[in-house]
Amino acid sequence: MIEKDKIVVGGGIAGLTAALSLAQRGKDVLLVEKNEKPGGLMNSFERDDFRFEGGARALVNAGLVKPLIKEFSLDIKVLPNPITLGIEDRLLEIDGEQSLYRYSDMLKDLYPESEDEVDKIIRAIRAIIEDMTVLYGVENPLFAKQKQNVLSMILSSVIRMLKFLRTMYRIGRMNAPFEDYLDALATNQSLKDIIGQHFFRRTPAFFALSYFALYNDYIYPEGGVGAFIEELGKAVGARGGEIRCNTEIVSVDGHNKLLRDAKGNEYRYDEMIWTADLKALYAMASDKGMAKRSLERFRTRKRAVLAHKGAESVFSVFLASDLPPEFFREKTSGHVFYTPDRRGLGTVHTSELHALLERWDTLQKEDLHDWLDKFCKYNTFEISIPVLRDPGAAPPGKTGLIISTLFDYTLISRIRARGWYEEFTNRVEDSFIATVSSSIYPDLKDSVLFRFSASPWSIRERVGSSEGSIVGWSFEGEIPAVTSMFNMGNSVKTPLPGVYAAGKWVYSPAGGPTGIMTGRIAAKQCK
Ligand SMILES: Cc1cc2nc3c(=O)[nH]c(=O)nc-3n(C[C@H](O)[C@H](O)[C@H](O)COP(=O)(O)OP(=O)(O)OC[C@H]3O[C@@H](n4cnc5c(N)ncnc54)[C@H](O)[C@@H]3O)c2cc1C
Repeated sequence: MIEKDKIVVGGGIAGLTAALSLAQRGKDVLLVEKNEKPGGLMNSFERDDFRFEGGARALVNAGLVKPLIKEFSLDIKVLPNPITLGIEDRLLEIDGEQSLYRYSDMLKDLYPESEDEVDKIIRAIRAIIEDMTVLYGVENPLFAKQKQNVLSMILSSVIRMLKFLRTMYRIGRMNAPFEDYLDALATNQSLKDIIGQHFFRRTPAFFALSYFALYNDYIYPEGGVGAFIEELGKAVGARGGEIRCNTEIVSVDGHNKLLRDAKGNEYRYDEMIWTADLKALYAMASDKGMAKRSLERFRTRKRAVLAHKGAESVFSVFLASDLPPEFFREKTSGHVFYTPDRRGLGTVHTSELHALLERWDTLQKEDLHDWLDKFCKYNTFEISIPVLRDPGAAPPGKTGLIISTLFDYTLISRIRARGWYEEFTNRVEDSFIATVSSSIYPDLKDSVLFRFSASPWSIRERVGSSEGSIVGWSFEGEIPAVTSMFNMGNSVKTPLPGVYAAGKWVYSPAGGPTGIMTGRIAAKQCK
């Protein structure tokens, strides 16, 4: 039996932040992680000297990452991560907020019949950018310096709070799904698709439209996202915390505060922070011996959590090219959101996909392939080229790329059940590469040295995330998590005694920044 005062389950960004915060306070903390190294959905890996990000392609600073690096003296150099937005042959490098007006010109050029609608959308984005400056532009007080003049601390807190309250009021008014919000501003479906099709279905309008501000807020750690994670792990160790990898928790006895791992080892904790999959926690936690009131709360919460599903996942194609970085640099930066066709997806990823799933049992492979062709032709791709941000990411004169787009978990799991997985993933790799090869990076396909892919299925297998989700809950239906920033402090509470939760399942909308915030909050709530 291993006895630890605090145990953190899951070594993603939320778990590492929680463990680091606890270790910093001198707590006896053990972090257990099922994979061979921490990072979860933030990691880098190498294949034949090409470095790729397996999860998030860069970090969103969000007033959190740089302060975290400073507070814990992490040995990380932060590199710029400029974003290029592209539609067909129009490419725009985002360079500060003024780029919004160049984006507006680009859209008007593509959709001359909808100039007024473009203006309305741009005005809405502009208002949101002002709000984002308040939310993310100021260094978050969770990472404020410990020693500060009390008066200036109170004053800056009051100012921050007033701005924050005004912003929260405006956000509250924009909580409707972005599709509905855009419907009220524009009728041109292609224009609306181009603005919104790389967001998760029914994303709150504020969050989706705020992305233009976040494009200016991305940073890239030298050595890759994985290097940042590695530094976080080292910082936990340097403060006396312990990280155990290859340790998968398979049962939780909430009453006796006991965990068991897949190898049969037992762990006793006083307080535990769960940052792995939330459905897994409620499915494996035993309610034996729980007091009546806690039991009722536990069962109600369990029903809500198990009934909902994760948001759409991602399909990523990784490839190595023997074209030099200069070939790509002439066209774009190292982080691109690109749509090859102004027409947009229309109903391909909504009603056409539903129709496909509804007639699944009688579906012919050719019908699936026809759908895939349209899906690739009209979609928006996130393209990451690590070597354009960090010259050490590829062998001299060569370039690695990651091309990805949102992808439905149900579809890929059915494809797998039908025995079509290998053939289908191969076809997706071909299609993604052919799409960018015939548009943004001509002839890329003739230079490919090797390629492979990761599907929503492989994401679920690797990090154990329900439905392969990368950002927690789907926005469709009732979300079983805190959705108001006012209530973020409560997001980490669970009905299990001494158990907190953090990460992408406890607060929505989620991502890297909320992982850091909830990890920090959960650690603060521990004794
Ligand atoms: C392709 C891609 C692009 C992304 N882009 C962005 C972006 O631009 N901006 C943004 O904010 N976010 C982005 N994200 C999302 C972001 O990376 C995640 O939301 C965030 O990293 C989640 O962190 P987490 O700690 O909550 O969960 P995870 O990273 O999933 O960590 C959970 C950890 O728990 C471990 N685990 C699971 N089960 C067990 C068990 N039973 N026992 C022990 N350990 C267990 C897992 O292995 C994992 O390490 C992206 C993700 C991907 C994949």
